[in-house]
Amino acid sequence: MLRLTVYGGAGEIGGNKILLEDGDARVLLDFGISYARRKLFFEEYLKPRTAAGLTDLLVTQVLPAVPGLYRHDLLKLADHGLPLHDEPLARAVLLSHAHLDHAGHISFLDERIPVYCSLLCHRTLLAMQDSRARDFETEITNFKPRPAFRRDRSVRPRPFRAVEGDFAAGGLTCRALPVDHSMLGCVVFLMRTSCGNVLYTGDLRFHGPEAHLSRAMLEAAAAEGIWMLITEGTRLDATERRTEQHVFEECLAAVCAVRGPVIADFAPRDLYRLSTFLRIAEETGRSLVILPQDAFLLDRLRGLHPLVPDPRAAPILILKERKQSGTYSEKDYETWERKVLGWPTVRTSEELRAEASRLILALSFWDVQNLIDLQVGPDALYIYSASEPHDEEQVIDQRRLANWLDLLGVARLDSHASGHAAQPDLVRMVRTLQPQILVPVHTEQAALWRQLVPETTIVEPAAGVPLVF
Ligand SMILES: [Zn+2]
Ligand SMILES: [Zn+2]
Repeated sequence: MLRLTVYGGAGEIGGNKILLEDGDARVLLDFGISYARRKLFFEEYLKPRTAAGLTDLLVTQVLPAVPGLYRHDLLKLADHGLPLHDEPLARAVLLSHAHLDHAGHISFLDERIPVYCSLLCHRTLLAMQDSRARDFETEITNFKPRPAFRRDRSVRPRPFRAVEGDFAAGGLTCRALPVDHSMLGCVVFLMRTSCGNVLYTGDLRFHGPEAHLSRAMLEAAAAEGIWMLITEGTRLDATERRTEQHVFEECLAAVCAVRGPVIADFAPRDLYRLSTFLRIAEETGRSLVILPQDAFLLDRLRGLHPLVPDPRAAPILILKERKQSGTYSEKDYETWERKVLGWPTVRTSEELRAEASRLILALSFWDVQNLIDLQVGPDALYIYSASEPHDEEQVIDQRRLANWLDLLGVARLDSHASGHAAQPDLVRMVRTLQPQILVPVHTEQAALWRQLVPETTIVEPAAGVPLVF
C-alpha cells in the first residue's frame, strides 16, 4: 500500500510539501514555502514571530499541523498542541531544487531528517544562507536552536547528502535525473515503490539552454516505465514557448542600439539568464556589473558547472554599494561581503560613472536607487527580464518601478523566457511516460489535465488528504 499526502502544492503554484509512504519508507518530496498561503496573513512588516516558535505558522496553516515533522526546539516554544515525537515521521527529504517555494520551510523540519539534493543545489542554498541576514524561515542548511539569547552563537548543521544517479533514501531506492529549469542543479526523482516507479518532476522545462537534460530524463524514465507521475503544471494553460535564445537575440539587438548604460533586471539566481547577459556583454564590448551576493554565489559554484563564470575576472565587475556610514568603511560590511569586496573586479558607483555607457548592470527594482548614484539618464535602457507580476503587491511594485523609470527618463524593454514547460511540452512528457496515474501539483490549472490527456487517470490531490493506492 502506498500513501501520498500533498500538504502543499495542491491547487497552488509552489509550496510543494508531499509525503510519500510505502511500508517502512517515508520520504518528503520538497518542503517549500507556500507563498500563496503565507501572503494571506503576512507581509514585509508582519512576519511570523520567531519568539513564538511555530505558533503563527501553524495557526495560519502556512505549515501543516503534522506530528513528527518539526524541530523540537520550535515545537517547545509553540502554543498549538502538536506533541513532541521520538522519531521523525519522515526519514528523508528529496529536494528537487533550491527555489524557496520548494526548499524554504526545510528550516522547520526535525534536523534528524537528512536532505538529498544535487551538489549544485546544496552549494546554492549555502551561498544564499551565508550571504543574507539570519531569518528563522530560511535557516535551511543550518539553524540557531531556539530560544536564542543575545551573544549565543551556537549553530546546528542540518545533514545534506549530495546525490547523483542512483541512491537510497528513507527506505526507498531512488534515482536523481538532472533537468532544465531557471536555476542550476535541478533534478527529477524516480522512486521505486511497491506499486511501481513514481516520478516527481519538481520544476522543469524543455526549452532552456539545457533542454537536452530534460529530454534525456524523459527517455531514461520512459525506459524504466512510470506507474505514477507527480508533475508540475505551472504553465499548463500556456502555449507560448519563448527560449533563452530568443531572449539573447532580442536583448542583444536592443543593447546594440543603446548608447548609454543598460540595466538587466532578472532573477538573481537564474545563472542561465546571467550567462545570457554575460554573452551579450562580451558581444557588445561591455562589462556585466553584479552585486556582491551574486558574486558570492558564483564563487561558491565555481568549477561545478561550465556556465558559472569567474566573478574575479572581466567582463564581470562587482558593485560596492554604500552602506551604514556611507563612507565605504570596511566596518560597514558583513564578514562574507568583505571577502568579496577585496577582489580586483570591485568598483564603487563613483568609479563606474565614467564608463557607464559600457556597462550592463544586473540590478533589480530593489536596487533601483543605485541608478541615482550611477547618474543613469535618458540614454539608458532598462530590460525587465523576469516573470510578469502575479499578485497585487507585485503589480504595485511594477508601478513604482515605472515611476522611477519615468523620473530618470529611462526606456524599458520586456524580454523573458519562462522557467516552466508550456502545455505542448507537458502533454508530450505525459504521452512519452504513459503513467497509469497522474497527480497534478504546482498548478492552478489541475482540471485542464483531464482534457489534455484523457487517456491518463488524473488524481487531483486535496491539501492534507492522503491518497491511498
Ligand atoms: Zn516552483
Ligand atoms: Zn523552481
